Amino acid sequence: MDKPKLIVDGKRMDGRAMDELRPILIKAGVLNKADGSAYIEWGKNKVLAAVYGPRECIPKHDENPYKALVRCTYRMSPFCSLEEHGRRGPSRRGTEISKLISNVFDTVVMAEHFPKTAIDIFVEVLQADGGTRVAGLTAAAVALADAGIPMKDVVCGVAAGKIDGEIAVDFGKYEDNFGESDIPVAVSPRTGELLLLQMDGMLTKDEVMRSVDMAISASMKVHELQVAALKERYAEKEKSGALGGEGDNGGGSLPSDAGGGRQGMALQPVPGDAGESAR
Ligand code: ADP
Repeated sequence: MDKPKLIVDGKRMDGRAMDELRPILIKAGVLNKADGSAYIEWGKNKVLAAVYGPRECIPKHDENPYKALVRCTYRMSPFCSLEEHGRRGPSRRGTEISKLISNVFDTVVMAEHFPKTAIDIFVEVLQADGGTRVAGLTAAAVALADAGIPMKDVVCGVAAGKIDGEIAVDFGKYEDNFGESDIPVAVSPRTGELLLLQMDGMLTKDEVMRSVDMAISASMKVHELQVAALKERYAEKEKSGALGGEGDNGGGSLPSDAGGGRQGMALQPVPGDAGESAR
């Protein structure tokens, strides 16, 4: 396919302004069997995230006596894209994205509370249209919070970069594939800390700084949607009496921990330093 015009009369292909995100919908607690789950529609992306754990770490030789192993498996469905994706097995790209999402959550999950266990995050891309790694990561953070896993923050990600000579945020597939440069970023909204920074293509130092600033500002809007989805989830649980820790919650299962502190953690990031206790 020839490169399409990505900007016409100051507007992008889908009519957005340079700093405008695609429409985003986030729903927490969408799977019955997972400890935590979330579904995100981000533009035309559709992504499911499921969290299992803390649970027994298998294989045993991956077990860490001091903290939980936080690991992510990102996968694209064979039917996720306009052009035939077709492959079901692991791919280099899938391995890369799994690793970077694992690394982000290894930083924010308070894994030291759960030695010798594993926290498994699964990200399944049902439909792809550019920016699936940040959409998956954003959904995974909500799923972890839904599972009651203590975290320093509910992190999120947005990409920014350059298309047709302009710095813009949140690329759709054509902008991603035909733009000059793409910088996916993950942010801790509470501290402003960058947890992921990748880059495709070439940019000047000033363009990198402007792209990252734009991605961080956009992340704050995404974070508000994450918090709203979690509040809605907790309101549903409260209504059904599931927050008391009894029975099935009608969505993702409640963690068996009777302390209750894990549930509150996700919505109220812990103040103070990283080592502070979650409870
Ligand atoms: P991201 O989805 O995080 O932007 P890439 O930059 O690698 O990751 O991919 C950009 C977009 O290109 C994807 O969102 C998807 O729409 C498409 N794409 C990439 N790899 C594949 C693939 N193997 N099969 C189908 N579509 C793909």
